[in-house]
Amino acid sequence: MRCKVCGEKAQVEVRSRGLAFCKAHYLDWFVKETEKAIRRNRMLNPGERVLVAVSGGKDSLALWDVLSRLGYQAVGLHIELGIGEYSKRSLEVTQAFARERGLELLVVDLKEAYGFGVPELASLSGRVACSACGLSKRYIINQVAVEEGFRVVATGHNLDDEAAVLFGNLLNPQEEALSRQGPVLPEKSGLAARVKPFYRFSEREVLSYTLLRGIRYLHEECPNAQGAKSLLYKEALNRVEREMPGAKLRFLEGFLEKIQPRLKAEEEVALRECERCGYPTTGGVCSFCRMWEAVYRRAKKRRLLPEERVFSPKVPVARG
Ligand SMILES: [Zn+2]
Ligand SMILES: [Zn+2]
Repeated sequence: MRCKVCGEKAQVEVRSRGLAFCKAHYLDWFVKETEKAIRRNRMLNPGERVLVAVSGGKDSLALWDVLSRLGYQAVGLHIELGIGEYSKRSLEVTQAFARERGLELLVVDLKEAYGFGVPELASLSGRVACSACGLSKRYIINQVAVEEGFRVVATGHNLDDEAAVLFGNLLNPQEEALSRQGPVLPEKSGLAARVKPFYRFSEREVLSYTLLRGIRYLHEECPNAQGAKSLLYKEALNRVEREMPGAKLRFLEGFLEKIQPRLKAEEEVALRECERCGYPTTGGVCSFCRMWEAVYRRAKKRRLLPEERVFSPKVPVARG
């Protein structure tokens, strides 16, 4: 196999798109494709400040790298989730990446901020870990973006992630979830815009970029992810992809372009300000504040928190 650009021996085959590249031209292609996705979907303005949610995994570090190379002012945000050694190593890898490249990194430590990391939070909230974690991440990322004056947040979700979410939403059909999914979620008052510049790249394509760029990332997956439904969906889709190259991309894009626009446009839900934190919610108190208030009540009963401790939703941000 030869590189499509220079004819030298190819190092990466992008089977789904019938392309093959040498190392240098793969790296070029990947950056240009990201830029194309950003322009086509109007994700970012040229040179704009963007908050990049970075876990230390291959996708988010590659995204931070590419956005910086494309001239965006990409500031990282890492949330220390308190999931044992996994979270410690995630923070270390992310800090090393930022340090080596002289990039600005913001850090929020869940346990320092609110008293409990994901494992304790899950057991005290009665939610499964991934649900408590996901809710915390979405809320904290948005609050930091708004407080620090970012219009937009970028995340490293790739094609496999997005196709798996779509597949899951079709297996357990919910029209609301289907009409909301997409590579760009526009900003609203108190809500930063959210964009996913890697949504057309498969996990393998992102990994190839990360490896060829020599980016050091955390290989291990979150211990809570084992047995997650999303892994089953990814496996099923990848079995189809193996027999039918391009299936995942056609599935996601076909949905976004042809089916989603025909779904009954959801009545714009009126967002109100949370009575506790002021951030957008559909109810009186947002789910983040409700979760933590319940956790504090239980923690006090079990004497894990002093009686006088009061929940404060304001996120403390550290630099570096
Ligand atoms: Zn080449
Ligand atoms: Zn709230």
